[in-house]
Amino acid sequence: MSTVFDFLPKSLMVCLLLFCGAHVQAFEISTGEQVQCPVTVNGQSGVAREIWNTYSQPEDRSPELGKAVAVMRLDEQGWPTIIFDAQAHEKSIKGSQTIWDFVYFHECAHAQNPEVTEVEANCSAYLEMGRRGLMNYHRMKQLETMHFNMMSILPIEYGGSGAQFWHQTLQCVRKAQQ
Ligand SMILES: [Zn+2]
Repeated sequence: MSTVFDFLPKSLMVCLLLFCGAHVQAFEISTGEQVQCPVTVNGQSGVAREIWNTYSQPEDRSPELGKAVAVMRLDEQGWPTIIFDAQAHEKSIKGSQTIWDFVYFHECAHAQNPEVTEVEANCSAYLEMGRRGLMNYHRMKQLETMHFNMMSILPIEYGGSGAQFWHQTLQCVRKAQQ
């Protein structure tokens, strides 16, 4: 049987077979830095997997995403996997880098501990951005606006509304910074 491998030089084929299955999972944050999300599952350490969902028809969009631009799910092996809406990322990354930084660290918090609540994941994202020097007044306001623009009614795990979600996030951040 002829496969695509038949047309590849042998050196590249070795690379594909040996390394491409373990290719680097990384997310480019607003500083241009490639970051990874370290996780430990049942004593095994590694980084969260990433799936970039690309689609040309809305029906090909991963149903896992729901209304979100990114979600964290455990794969069949129980490994934390962040699914991104690649189209949404491409369309909005310019001008929304702070928001995507926040989305990434939010999903990473879920990946590191699938038990965290939505407020805790937000809180963790906020604190991580602070530690990385990514937070300032302007960025905080950008994130606040994003939350205030969320649907007026949100599930209770998000505080019931974007405004509440943000309020509870800041409460958690202040507590952690005390
Ligand atoms: Zn979440």
